[in-house]
Amino acid sequence: MLRSFERERLPDPLGYFEAEGLRLFGRKSWRSTLCCFHQDSNPSLRVNVETGAYRCMACGAKGGDVLAFHRARHGLSFVQAARDLGAWGAA
Ligand SMILES: [Zn+2]
Repeated sequence: MLRSFERERLPDPLGYFEAEGLRLFGRKSWRSTLCCFHQDSNPSLRVNVETGAYRCMACGAKGGDVLAFHRARHGLSFVQAARDLGAWGAA
């Protein structure tokens, strides 16, 4: 197995969430945004712009990093998501 996940190559969470089209409210590590996992009218989703963790207070969607977010939002496998994010490298 010469290919592997390289966590350090995951994109910066702040830039990633903005590139995903999320409008982030707030100035601290945890920002609020409209949830992309359910029909949201109030910003229920909290995302951490330093770690990439996310948690929705309304629908319960949650994960620990941008890879988990990317998988859940786009319905990808671990490897597909890692490749998509440029974090799947050849040794
Ligand atoms: Zn939600």
